[in-house]
Amino acid sequence: MPHLRPYVSAVVRPIPITTREERVEELDRAGHNPFNLPADKVSIDLLSDSGTGAVSVDQQAWAQRGDERYAGAESFFRYREALREVVPYEHLLPVHQGRAAERVLFSALLGEGRISLSNTHFDTTRANVERLGAEARDLPSPELFDLDGEHPFKGDIDVSALRQVLDGPDGERVGQILMTITNNGGGGQPVSMANLKEVSALARERGVPLILDAARFAENAWLVIRREPGYQDKTPLEVAREAFELADGAVASLKKDGLSPEGAFIGLNDAELADRCEVDIIATEGFRTYGGLTGSTLEQLAQGLREVVTPAYLADREHEAAYLADRAHQAGVDTVRPAGLHGVYLNAGRLLPHLPPARFPGHALACALYREGGIRCAELGSLYLGTLDDNAELTSPAPFELVRLALPRRVYDHSHLEYVGEILAEIAKNPESVPGYRITENPPILRHFRCRTAPLS
Ligand SMILES: *Cc1c(COP(=O)(O)O)cnc(C)c1O
Repeated sequence: MPHLRPYVSAVVRPIPITTREERVEELDRAGHNPFNLPADKVSIDLLSDSGTGAVSVDQQAWAQRGDERYAGAESFFRYREALREVVPYEHLLPVHQGRAAERVLFSALLGEGRISLSNTHFDTTRANVERLGAEARDLPSPELFDLDGEHPFKGDIDVSALRQVLDGPDGERVGQILMTITNNGGGGQPVSMANLKEVSALARERGVPLILDAARFAENAWLVIRREPGYQDKTPLEVAREAFELADGAVASLKKDGLSPEGAFIGLNDAELADRCEVDIIATEGFRTYGGLTGSTLEQLAQGLREVVTPAYLADREHEAAYLADRAHQAGVDTVRPAGLHGVYLNAGRLLPHLPPARFPGHALACALYREGGIRCAELGSLYLGTLDDNAELTSPAPFELVRLALPRRVYDHSHLEYVGEILAEIAKNPESVPGYRITENPPILRHFRCRTAPLS
């Protein structure tokens, strides 16, 4: 069957058309860091898929019914009912975004000297583990490091490495196992249900809580249906529920698969743990029936959760990501394979072999995409993950030099993605003309969000 996009635009936002001259000036003003660019100078914004999607007319209609009473508002109960359809836990606590959920839950589970084991900790997740004096240790599956391989579940955790840590001298200090679905820090690759089942059995056997970082629970469920034997006849809702049932709890940003600009939750079965989280949430986020969110947002989330698990929506998401990956390949740019759903990861190291990691090829490609086409995106390479010395020179590089083209939900159509392909093709025709970069201002933490850089001639 030919693919049919299951929606049309009902309200539109114009995007700016800028000149190359303007963009060169903007890049200078921004210290050549895409995070510093004003959005009204960006034509195609692929910086993040978080909170950047379009809402539906039904979400807008429900938002009108937002009940803003302080405690026990109707909107909370509708939100909780919709969430519980997917996340069948006893305690569901709203908070304003994913990192708040992480901060609150990890404060209750971890502490000085404890260890969090994960397929890959996302950046804010790692920060929230480390600020407690705990260690965030990644145990990704070895397939993750084969960028060109077509392994369907590169997001899995390495179960034998996990068992080794639990059985070794550090085993006593493990405070949680955190499975990120899909594996955002790991190229948006999915986690298989087979892997989750193994981890779940192991966690229960050892009495260690298994927590899902489930920002993309629906996208992971869809890729399971598409790729894992035995799941093709299940619905995304069934697969997502099964994943949550295998764990003891979850934190999730709903700025992704909640199809909303804000929101998140903590889900738990353990009453005592939920109680401790609730006290923290009341003190820092808001009362337990709104957690810092308006009634309108709670309504919008409830509807978003119903929409995100529909097969037509998820099939469209898969189609868009595959289309963008195809455009990149046709332009002569390699991507991390197989394409996931929330973004396409470009292999900048391979495209720009004249730039060593210390000249930040991923960052150079991200800047070139803005300069040549007004396209904003960010690198996932040595600027983000490398180690620097006091002079901001690279001492140990990241394993790969990638650029993430994140796809906002329901926003860009084929013509926009085709344009991205055209700009990529222009850059790929003459890759040696892309300059390398050095860091001019290097903040000690969360560097990639805050640094300034300059091109080398
Ligand atoms: C986005 C994200 C977070 C943080 O959520 P925010 O809502 O941005 O605070 C945590 N983990 C993963 C995997 C994410 O993708």
